[in-house]
Amino acid sequence: MVLSNGTELDVGAIIVATGAKPYMPTEFNYGKDPRVLTTLDLENGKTVEGKNVAIINCVGSRTSGRGCSRYCCAVGLSKAIELRGQGKNVVLIYRDIMGVDPEVEDLYKKARDAGVLFIRIPRKAELTEAIKMDTNKLIVHDVELGDDVEVPFDNIILNIGLVPSEDTDEVSKVLRLSKDQEGFLMEAHPKLGPVDTMTPGIFIAGAARGPKNVAEAIAEGYAAASRALMMLAQGYVTKEPFIPKFDWSKCTKCGLCIKACPYGAIRGVPGKWIEHIPAACQGCGACVAECPQDAITLDALSDDAIMAQIEAALLRSLRRR
Ligand SMILES: Cc1cc2nc3c(=O)[nH]c(=O)nc-3n(C[C@H](O)[C@H](O)[C@H](O)COP(=O)(O)OP(=O)(O)OC[C@H]3O[C@@H](n4cnc5c(N)ncnc54)[C@H](O)[C@@H]3O)c2cc1C
Ligand code: SF4
Ligand code: SF4
Repeated sequence: MVLSNGTELDVGAIIVATGAKPYMPTEFNYGKDPRVLTTLDLENGKTVEGKNVAIINCVGSRTSGRGCSRYCCAVGLSKAIELRGQGKNVVLIYRDIMGVDPEVEDLYKKARDAGVLFIRIPRKAELTEAIKMDTNKLIVHDVELGDDVEVPFDNIILNIGLVPSEDTDEVSKVLRLSKDQEGFLMEAHPKLGPVDTMTPGIFIAGAARGPKNVAEAIAEGYAAASRALMMLAQGYVTKEPFIPKFDWSKCTKCGLCIKACPYGAIRGVPGKWIEHIPAACQGCGACVAECPQDAITLDALSDDAIMAQIEAALLRSLRRR
């Protein structure tokens, strides 16, 4: 493996844990109105000066195809308790309180006991539809009342989620890792291989594969490390025996197969002979389908082999009749 600074590393496994980035809001005049802060601003030392504070959950999450960020309900509740402790009037506007671990339930009870006011807005509505911003008040559609309520504010805190980072995107391109609809790295199987990728030897962990809290990210880090260790301790990688064959007399050096291979197992540039790396090849057959010259074949997936399988299956069902 060659790093961008030119350092060469001899590695047997890679764990990608490049994280995610905080959502940068444009909603509720953030960046223009100094009364509007984010939870990240608070982490970075900004303080809430006003008496009336409205916290808005799910900013950048659970909308426009993005899922729940999982950690921010707990952050919103903690900030609400903290601000209540400073004697402020705190209203927390939320869609659902996602208690991904039991501590969130405790925080919720503490916030209620401390006198934080909760307003639930419609689950599916865009935040800016359910919450309208006026000069000194928010007009919020309260699901429990079935009506709009007015929330006076001196400060608004936007409880922001996590979105895919450019770094993770770059790494996914270099390592040819699949991404989900949101742009986070995709695991081989959500239940059977949550930190595995489709490429043996490459593992993923933490917020790079989706928003989560620190405890979950650490647990995934342990899981990925143990998966890598198992592989390294074994000393070899088990592979499917199927790899394609190339008929160089048919190859026109078009290079289409280079892009088609999701595992980077075909290298080269158009116009020159390509190089196939059997150790990286997973025998998926993508190059076979892409080659316009029929120069690539996979024995197990050749037209003849598939026709023979279909014929055998049909013959068996005819015999049963
Ligand atoms: C405002 C805010 C508040 C939060 N508060 C909480 C909280 O109170 N409790 C909680 O549990 N969670 C909280 N979270 C969520 C928490 O930040 C994440 O769960 C956690 O950071 C995920 O850890 P990670 O290691 O997967 O990713 P990160 O913490 O994002 O770490 C990724 C690391 O990879 C490095 N990196 C990226 N690209 C490259 C590259 N190409 N080469 C080398 N290094 C690279 C980055 O520099 C970074 O150090 C909060 C998030 C936000 C935005
Ligand atoms: S954890 Fe809570 S605040 Fe964050 S996106 Fe999910 S529901 Fe919204
Ligand atoms: S797609 Fe076929 S013809 Fe084109 S470079 Fe690859 S093997 Fe050769």
